[in-house]
Amino acid sequence: MNSHQVHFKKIYKQIDAKGDYKFDFNLSKYTWLGVAGSAEIFYIPDNKEELSAILKNLKGDITVNIIGLGSNILIRDGGIKGLVIKLGRNFGTIEENENHINVGSYVPDRILSNYCLKNSYSGFEYLSGIPGSIGGAVYMNAGCYGTEVKDIFLKAYCLDYDGNTRTFENTSDTFSYRKNNIVNNLIVIDADFKKTKGDFQTIEHKMKEVVSSKKTTQPEKIRTAGSTFKNPKKSIGKKAWELIEESGLRSFKMNGISLSPKHANFIVNQQFKSSNMIEDFGEVIREKVFNQTGIMLDWEIQIIGDR
Ligand SMILES: Cc1cc2nc3c(=O)[nH]c(=O)nc-3n(C[C@H](O)[C@H](O)[C@H](O)COP(=O)(O)OP(=O)(O)OC[C@H]3O[C@@H](n4cnc5c(N)ncnc54)[C@H](O)[C@@H]3O)c2cc1C
Repeated sequence: MNSHQVHFKKIYKQIDAKGDYKFDFNLSKYTWLGVAGSAEIFYIPDNKEELSAILKNLKGDITVNIIGLGSNILIRDGGIKGLVIKLGRNFGTIEENENHINVGSYVPDRILSNYCLKNSYSGFEYLSGIPGSIGGAVYMNAGCYGTEVKDIFLKAYCLDYDGNTRTFENTSDTFSYRKNNIVNNLIVIDADFKKTKGDFQTIEHKMKEVVSSKKTTQPEKIRTAGSTFKNPKKSIGKKAWELIEESGLRSFKMNGISLSPKHANFIVNQQFKSSNMIEDFGEVIREKVFNQTGIMLDWEIQIIGDR
């Protein structure tokens, strides 16, 4: 055990914590890409109070990272130093109030979407097409087919990395394209969403449309992390996939990594060895697209850890 691990274990015992933790734990099975480095300390807290106590006692001595369902992250081969937190099932509640629905960060987007269908709440249909968790959705301002988190979000309840409670609400500055401008260095524990009554059949129809459109346009049952690059600003007039195709990269392959024949902005990972190779593949794409079109694509996939 290294000094960080000894320190963590001591605090864990001191506060009589109940959550799970593992040292030098490989995170491959927690990412959609199926490859990842290890976490120095991987921790699934039992509850919010325990997580807060751990963070308060660590007093910022150890770097903190948080992962959701791993559908938009690339964890480099060298792994993550410090603490990697994953909120588990205990953070998976859905509770209703008069005007809002409070949802725990662990809840998968599709489960929330189904819950809202069952109870005829509209606005959540698009989440049936996104394979992440609510925590990840709030962090990424996840969206598709013209709706994103900012359209239904009211308020988030968080912990900062020192274990203090923080909240933030939906103002004009909170969200931008695939980005939450507030949430850096915060762990979203749960969030309130607008509760809007709708018509069951209309909601069901919309959800079916989302699911079937995703089936037609995006690859399934492959190791990917969704859209690899963000679409450039609207004035460019082209989406990331169009720039990639225009640059003649549709069938570009490197080290068992390629682009999906169904969607040029989706990486398909067919090797079990290395995250760094995926990053390298993406960097080559960025460079080639830049040389061809003059536009430098930005990663949408969140890249974390050391090479
Ligand atoms: C097949 C496929 C299709 C996809 N389609 C779409 C789509 O249509 N639209 C879209 O927007 N995205 C899409 N994605 C990407 C992805 O599903 C979303 O970005 C999703 O919101 C990520 O959630 P996650 O739980 O998997 O987060 P992760 O990938 O685990 O993490 C993503 C980021 O969120 C942060 N994070 C996670 N949980 C928390 C938390 N509780 N508090 C603070 N930060 C947190 C992480 O630190 C990381 O920076 C797709 C992905 C795949 C694989």
